Amino acid sequence: MEKGFEKYEKYARAYALKNAISHDGKAQAGAVIAGLFNVGLKKEDIGKYSKNIKKIVDEINAMDLIDQANEFEDSKELVGERPEREGLPELPDSSKGVIMRFRPSPSGPMHIGHIISNLSSALYVKKYGGKFYVIIDDTNPETTIKSAYKNLKEDCDWIFGNVSEYLNASDRLKLYYNYAEKLISKNAAYVCLCTSEKFREFVLKKTECPCRNSSIKENLEKWKKMLDKNGYLEGGVVLRFKTLEKYKGMANKNPAMRDFPLARIDIHSHPLQNKKYRIWPLMNLAVAVDDIELGMTHIIRGKDHRDNAERQKMIYEVFGKKYPWIFFIGRIKFTDLTLSKRAITEKIKSGEYENEEDEKLPTLASLRKRGYKPEAFKKFIEQRGLSEVDKVISSKDLFDVIDRLNKE
Ligand SMILES: [Zn+2]
Repeated sequence: MEKGFEKYEKYARAYALKNAISHDGKAQAGAVIAGLFNVGLKKEDIGKYSKNIKKIVDEINAMDLIDQANEFEDSKELVGERPEREGLPELPDSSKGVIMRFRPSPSGPMHIGHIISNLSSALYVKKYGGKFYVIIDDTNPETTIKSAYKNLKEDCDWIFGNVSEYLNASDRLKLYYNYAEKLISKNAAYVCLCTSEKFREFVLKKTECPCRNSSIKENLEKWKKMLDKNGYLEGGVVLRFKTLEKYKGMANKNPAMRDFPLARIDIHSHPLQNKKYRIWPLMNLAVAVDDIELGMTHIIRGKDHRDNAERQKMIYEVFGKKYPWIFFIGRIKFTDLTLSKRAITEKIKSGEYENEEDEKLPTLASLRKRGYKPEAFKKFIEQRGLSEVDKVISSKDLFDVIDRLNKE
């Protein structure tokens, strides 16, 4: 070891762990160096210690995520991470009540992951008054399962107990169309005829596709051709957001922000709407429109929706609206449970699980059947507070806590 590095070693390890946990297990030396500045590392010493730092980063990166998370638990204080506070913190601007939402997709059963990400919203609405919307995100005709509507309502009524209103996104298509046309009229959206492969090349090269510079009039005509059953065919035609000038358009440093799609043609039959509609909005259009229309004031979402929130914020800007307060909540990753609606649905189909209520599943239906009370989960969420940090845990450890709360 380079002389003088001893005093930095444990900090370097802690910063590498912290960085690794939030980046799928891969730490970067740069993040470690940035952290070490907090504990006195001088710029001129970076070169001298770079080998030691690299060695630590390599060691950490060779570990499993779960081992990283466990070791990090013991070294959190070294990196100035505040211990998780007890109880849900107050929300800003909440004195007149709050309007919040949960948007489940009807593609499979609700599970414990949904509780962890969304129960706090329901609790805040209960605390401050206001409205808690459940908007069933059924704008993908191909993945929407008819039986899921009823199940989602049962699950939401059980776990939240204070849903103000249930809405189906698929009943709101006229509204989304209306906003899509407004976006085109404001020169903030265009119809793109490029194949997705072709457009991916434009994204990578940060260049504009030829469709981007069509006039508003041309775009409105193309939009009509998207709506017309004798017009454009499915696939290859999408409505794109025109990433604002102030965000550098196709040169935005985040590829996810470069002229992302808003709507596409999908002629599959929809479980509720059948073949009534040809154009279906994509998530960012539907979510932004609903949040504007319903007057959302506060949003709590999983960290995986950070890019989507940025996109929705840009749509808000086009309409001159102020974006709600948002918090990205850390997820709980289980070492021994699949938390994917689709995977659960597949495994029920294949016979690995009997049905949604199978005792081995972390679905709400199963938890309910096993005698858990919503109050146990509410207490758990209140004790956890709002945390941005992902937690890796075994389901046994989690249920030890929930079981204890359930008995209380
Ligand atoms: Zn194009």
